[in-house]
Amino acid sequence: MVTVKLKPLFEIAQLLKPYTRVFVIGCQLGSGRCKNGGLREAFKVAGYLELHGFKISGVKSPGGTCILERLSSPERDILKEAESSSDAILSLACGAGTQLIAENVSIPVITGVNTLFIGVERERKYFDEYCVACGDCVISETGGICPVARCPKSLINGPCGGAIAGKCEVDPSIPCIWYKIESRLDSLNSLSLLERKVPPKDYRSWVYPRRLVLEE
Ligand code: SF4
Ligand code: SF4
Repeated sequence: MVTVKLKPLFEIAQLLKPYTRVFVIGCQLGSGRCKNGGLREAFKVAGYLELHGFKISGVKSPGGTCILERLSSPERDILKEAESSSDAILSLACGAGTQLIAENVSIPVITGVNTLFIGVERERKYFDEYCVACGDCVISETGGICPVARCPKSLINGPCGGAIAGKCEVDPSIPCIWYKIESRLDSLNSLSLLERKVPPKDYRSWVYPRRLVLEE
């Protein structure tokens, strides 16, 4: 999932300073899943803003903000409602969802979150980055473990040789991911994959902005 982190509430209030009537929109997908921008947080932020003199014209959290244009009523009508009743929208959706909101309304859209990474929730409230969406996936050759996102040097033919007792030299709080890759390949009887050099990544597939067009 795309992970986001709620900005400090005083920072959000600062960003909204030029406006009086604010409509708060959360997102039940990534933001909601990582408990930093779903309905609960939308109400929490709205409560804080109200205490600090803003008028809250609405609080909604659709099923998926990045697919808002494709949702049916009444979720799709949230934007019309927000636009007609507010000076600005505060979005707690990820960067993509917030931009989509901004494309569909004529009032200012302020973000209340920082979009972080594509990750997994390993334990309750604990998220790890697992993928940087590099567009040229190599994990079939690395035991299903991504060295691009999970090695601080993004080495696809690691390890770098700096690991100490199996811990990463850049961040000793994490294991060297290449130790994990080796151990996983060993358990799969596929250590021979390590003898092969993974070719340099095709960074042409990593030029922004990227697109995905589905074939019929
Ligand atoms: S190699 Fe890693 S960063 Fe690239 S697509 Fe695969 S999982 Fe994502
Ligand atoms: S110690 Fe391992 S995880 Fe850390 S930078 Fe080197 S190869 Fe990457």
